[in-house]
This record gives sequence, structure tokens and C-alpha cells, in this order.
Amino acid sequence: MARINDNYLKLAAGYLFPEIGRRVAAFQTDNPEVRLIRLGIGDVVLPLPKSIRRAMHRAVDELGTEKHFHGYGPEQGYGFLREAIAENDFRARSVDVDADEVFVSDGSKCDSGNIQEIFHVDAVVAVPDPVYPVYVDTNVMAGRTGQPDRHGRYEGIVYLPCTKENGFLPAPPTREVDLVYLCFPNNPTGTVAGRDALAGWVDYAKRSGAILLFDAAYEAYITQDGIPHSIFEIPGAREVAIEFRSFSKNAGFTGTRCAYVVIPKELTGRAADASATSIHKLWNRRHTTKFNGASYPVQAGAAAAYTDQGKREIRERVDYYLANAAIIRAGLIDLGLAVYGGINAPYVWVETPDGMGSWEFFDKLLNQAHVVGTPGAGFGSCGEGFFRLSAFGKREAVEEAIERIRTRL
Ligand SMILES: *Cc1c(COP(=O)(O)O)cnc(C)c1O
Repeated sequence: MARINDNYLKLAAGYLFPEIGRRVAAFQTDNPEVRLIRLGIGDVVLPLPKSIRRAMHRAVDELGTEKHFHGYGPEQGYGFLREAIAENDFRARSVDVDADEVFVSDGSKCDSGNIQEIFHVDAVVAVPDPVYPVYVDTNVMAGRTGQPDRHGRYEGIVYLPCTKENGFLPAPPTREVDLVYLCFPNNPTGTVAGRDALAGWVDYAKRSGAILLFDAAYEAYITQDGIPHSIFEIPGAREVAIEFRSFSKNAGFTGTRCAYVVIPKELTGRAADASATSIHKLWNRRHTTKFNGASYPVQAGAAAAYTDQGKREIRERVDYYLANAAIIRAGLIDLGLAVYGGINAPYVWVETPDGMGSWEFFDKLLNQAHVVGTPGAGFGSCGEGFFRLSAFGKREAVEEAIERIRTRL
């Protein structure tokens, strides 16, 4: 028999979303007449913007002509998209990012999961708790951890507690680490980091030699002034950070698939002989070896996100979800619950009442209100006692869910 990668066997069983699926299916079998409202998984529901669809149609038609046919494109993405990204997402905010520092891909899940490959197996990784599970699981698969303990925390990973006491803003660890995953606006807590907090992280990274892996998938949801949209708004971040962005949650590309990574040329890591090595070069080597580029029609569609009409249509969608989040927030606050997030993010993070466990609250919401959310404990042990509600739903469904929660809980 072929020898397997045993690290995969360390992955904690009963992973969050399958367990939710199991409980929902069991409930639905017992109660076939009940119409559940799902505010659990973070997937968009509004259709693709017209400007983007038009650009994709045009691109498909080009592929049908001899003159404009495209075969393999540049692995890093077409110049037209990389330029539009650098110009609109960064230079328009006075952030210095060059088009050739942008690597286009088919998703931030892959990018944030793959990035660890270019670092040593002994590299020490720090993650916030609670956290997007991809960051942890991909490091487990790579062999950077031991076994999980009974709370699901892996030996060898440095966990950074995000609690209501610290405003869900983790403080830099007291020890040195190699990599720190950060995500703002945050999934699952819906909270954001201000300039001072991010400057503290950049300062830590400079002092300790760590690299910050900054996931800004929800950047478009930042509504309040003064909150950085990019880690590269912080002076010095170009020497210590990588940023992940995605078209999934702003332009509705969860099914269409397009994202990108920004790796500044200044960023270096340490080789065995202690010499400084370009991370941009390593990632370019990995990306061009293992990836053959996002599809041409998808990149054409993504580029249309930067047209005036595209920007308008995306703003409408983001505002729609944010209005949902405001409805969820208001309803839960009215019930006397402690509510976080949902102002600069499509997620509302609520403290469960009377010290109830996350899963207990999940069952209560399912059984009494017929609403599906996500137990905070599924994102890490510090998520215990919290619950995530997603604003990615149709307005009527969100309104009805809140009405049910108000009247039946
Ligand atoms: C949804 C999400 C992404 C985006 O993933 P894609 O693969 O681009 O769809 C990235 N990071 C976090 C934390 C997310 O919640």
C-alpha cells in the first residue's frame, strides 16, 4: 500500500460545516414541514453585476474567433487585470503597489492555504482564535503541528485569543514566530483593526522578523472612516506583509472564482545560510509551477469590477448586505444580547445568553426559531459562548429570521 501523508489524520474530526449539515438534516427529517432560514455559511446570494456579466460574455465571444482566441495566459494574471487592481485597489488610496506585485488566482481560499508551502516546515505559525479554519488546517497538512488537544488546539501553533475583553483584536505574541495570519474585517467576529492596532503588528513583525499574512477578503465592507483597507496603508508594511484579496464577497464571485495576492518586492525570508531571499520570487516560482492562470472570461469579468458601472453595482450589493447586518444587529440588541461586528463586515458575532454553549444555542435557534447560524466554537476554542450570523441572505429572509428570533427565543 502507498504510504500516505499522516498529517491529514491529525485534522480534528467532525469539522464544523459537516456537523451543522448533520444537525440540520436530522431536524428537517423530523420536521419536514418547517421552512428553515439559513444565515450560516458565508456565501453571497445576489446575482452577478450586469457590467461583469457583459464583460464575461464579450470575452467568451472573443474566444470563439480566430483573431481573438486566447490559450494559456500569463500564470500571474493578465496585465489588464493586474494593472486595474494596482491602480484602483491601491494607488487610488495612495498605497504603493505595482502591477507585477499582484498574483491573480482562482480564490483566496487556495492562496491563503497555499502560501505556507514556501516556508520551512519548522516555521512557527500564529493564528487568531477564533479563526478561518483554512489557515490552521493547511499548516496541519504540511506537518507544522502535533496532535490537537481536546479543545481542538494543535500542538505547535501559537494561538492568539480574541475575546470581548480585547475587542477581538489579538495582541502580538510575546515570543517570536515566523508567520502570523490576520484577517480584517474579520471572519467570524466581524470586527476591524484600526491604524494603531495594525501599526502594532507591523512593528512586531519588524522587530521579530515575522511575516504578516493579511486576509482582506472583506475589505469592501469597511464603512467607517479611518479604518485601513489594506495592510500596506501602514508605513513599513511592504517589508513584512502579504495581502490576500478576493472578488468573492464584493463582486459576488464565490461561484465564478477570482482573487489575488499582493507580495511586495521588498519582502524577504531567511534561507538556510541565513541569507535574505525574495518571497516574491519564491511565490512566483510556486505559482507558475502549480497554477496555469485564472480563466480569461473570469479575469475579463473581474476587470469590469473596476469600471464606473462595476464599482456602482458592487457598492449596491455590499450596501444591501450591510443593511441586512444592521437589521440583524438591531434585532439582537433589542433582545438584550451583546452584539459585535456587522458594521464593517457581513458577519454579526453575538454572545450567547446566560452563558449557554455555542452548540446549545445553535440547537435552540434551530429548534425554536428555525434559523441556522454558526456556533462560534467551530472557529476555535475562544469562539465558545459566541455565535455567528451571516448577513448574506435575501432581505425578506433576514427580516423573517430576526422576527422569529425575537418572538420565539
Ligand atoms: C470567503 C473568504 C475568503 C474568500 O475565499 P475565495 O476562495 O476567494 O472565495 C477568504 N478569506 C476569508 C476569511 C473568507 O471568509
